[in-house]
Amino acid sequence: MGEVALPERVIAELGSTERGDTLIVVGAVHGNEPAGWEASRRVAAALTTREDHLDGRVVFITGNRRALSMGRRFVDRDLNRAWTRAVVERIRSEGPGASAEDLEQADLIRELDELVATSTGTTWLLDLHTTSAMGGAFSTVADALPARELALRLPVPLVLGLEEMVDGTLHDWIGEHGVVTMAFESGQHAEPAAVDRAEAAIWLVLEATGLLHATHLPEATEARKLLARDAAGLPPALEMRYRHPVEEADGFVMAPGWENFQPVRRGETLAEDGDGPVRSPHRGRMLMPLYQEQGEDGFFVVREFSAFWLWVSEALRRAGLAGGVHLLPGVRRHPERDGVYVVDRRVARWYALQILHLLGFRRVREEGDVLVVERRGVHYD
Ligand SMILES: [Zn+2]
Repeated sequence: MGEVALPERVIAELGSTERGDTLIVVGAVHGNEPAGWEASRRVAAALTTREDHLDGRVVFITGNRRALSMGRRFVDRDLNRAWTRAVVERIRSEGPGASAEDLEQADLIRELDELVATSTGTTWLLDLHTTSAMGGAFSTVADALPARELALRLPVPLVLGLEEMVDGTLHDWIGEHGVVTMAFESGQHAEPAAVDRAEAAIWLVLEATGLLHATHLPEATEARKLLARDAAGLPPALEMRYRHPVEEADGFVMAPGWENFQPVRRGETLAEDGDGPVRSPHRGRMLMPLYQEQGEDGFFVVREFSAFWLWVSEALRRAGLAGGVHLLPGVRRHPERDGVYVVDRRVARWYALQILHLLGFRRVREEGDVLVVERRGVHYD
């Protein structure tokens, strides 16, 4: 196969690390989602004349160069599902295999390692995506408090708990390296407005992180208006209730016309597969219905997460209560690993995941009645 000219890995690196933070903006981790990548190029161009005003460093990078040049979500495997310890360690120790995404990932690991190592302040990462369905920009975070605060500065719904449902995302991995990370979904892959919304998100993140002072950010007002207008009537935060996994052999076909955040009734038929109609097990709102060939998630159902629980979870975490969770009935410390707990669901029942989630834990493994959870951001080998 002949080498095609690939888009550059680093679109632009602006400012310096002498003072302030580093913001990494990533577009097109999925190659059929060029909106964030195009928005990055726009903002990078606009920033060149303002470089002296940057309080830190901004780096715009391309996610999956090979898939982007082909207009496909991925070439050999989904680049946003393989940021697990096992895969990253294999690539680090053995080097990449022959697959397109191994080469992409090896290159990205090198680039991101370098940026994190040379960062002098906080490192932020904004990961830009789009969906195959129309409607509704939103943000997601790996649910650490600073990331949540950053996401809530943007006037779009924040979706919590996605990382519980999807393993091996880039922002999950880099979040464990002390990087404050959020993903932003800016609309449907091909709609021009998705580029505008992604651009608006970059401006607002530049403002929220303090990298660019308001006096040098004339775009921020319009950006806020644009996002707020499209999110009118939607709750500020929602949590994941359900993921419908699909495999190629399922013959999954989403019913036409579903959009992000459209209300869903319990039992409502949402799709068809080889076994017949696929119904929603929950009431809530539709998220990311699958209208493209590649993908492992048929659809998600989300539900409003009240401002009250946002506040409670923040208060619990600020009070440092996470260290005492083993005092809850049915929860014990893992015998060998720090920051890891074993939950007996027969004893802990309904509240276990709720409370642990609020305190910043995530599920790592489920074995029958036993659930293994760990603190986000805690490393173990
Ligand atoms: Zn994506």
